[in-house]
Amino acid sequence: MSRSYRYCRIDREGCVHCGCRRFEQEAVIDDRLAAAWELSPRERRWFDRREGHFCRDCRMSRRVRMLLWTIRRVRSGADLEILHLNETNALAPALERMGRVTPTVYRPDRPLGTRIGAFHNEDMLRLSFGDGRFDLAVHSETLEHLADYERALAEVGRVLKPGGLQVYTVPLLFSRKTRRRMRPGASGRLEPCLPPSHHGAGEFPVVWEFGGDFRRERDGAIEALYFDNYWRNRTVFAVVEAKAGRASV
Ligand SMILES: [Zn+2]
Repeated sequence: MSRSYRYCRIDREGCVHCGCRRFEQEAVIDDRLAAAWELSPRERRWFDRREGHFCRDCRMSRRVRMLLWTIRRVRSGADLEILHLNETNALAPALERMGRVTPTVYRPDRPLGTRIGAFHNEDMLRLSFGDGRFDLAVHSETLEHLADYERALAEVGRVLKPGGLQVYTVPLLFSRKTRRRMRPGASGRLEPCLPPSHHGAGEFPVVWEFGGDFRRERDGAIEALYFDNYWRNRTVFAVVEAKAGRASV
């Protein structure tokens, strides 16, 4: 197994954000999503424990706690310039303690590069920020909705300072090959090549179901994958990529 795999137990000291030791489990993967994704009962349970295991106090899911644990592992400080792409609500208060946060949303019906309240309206494929601006970029469950996720990762790399890191999560099953559910049609718009599948409230369709080849394709960029309790659940992990080349984390 690759040296970039690291193992941890994020809840050993209680919730990584608030210290609470009380958690509750909800079922969040519905039948339609499980069927479209062709999840086995075990895989469905893995994703339920990732998405539906909440801290009772701060409501962070295990996936978001994994992300925060990893961010703290690789970056510390109170004066960081942080890009929080497609803001993950539960994570925002924790990032605000680490520096100046630029939160974004994606509303293609509104002018890109402008503000919508506190948020910057940004397309991850063509960010409006200049080169080398951020120490840290964070995104969660976004890449699977983008036609060209590699371009998005490169674009985030562009706006990082030298030595900057991006930390992110993706839904991924290592035992599978990546499968695409949508591809660009003649008009350039994404069209389904498998029956449509949605995450969450159903707003963004799934383009990619990531498999183990994602890790191999990103091999030159990935610094580390941190797994929570890998032997119980192989879906709870966060990825660390450096701006370019390898730095030690
Ligand atoms: Zn908590």
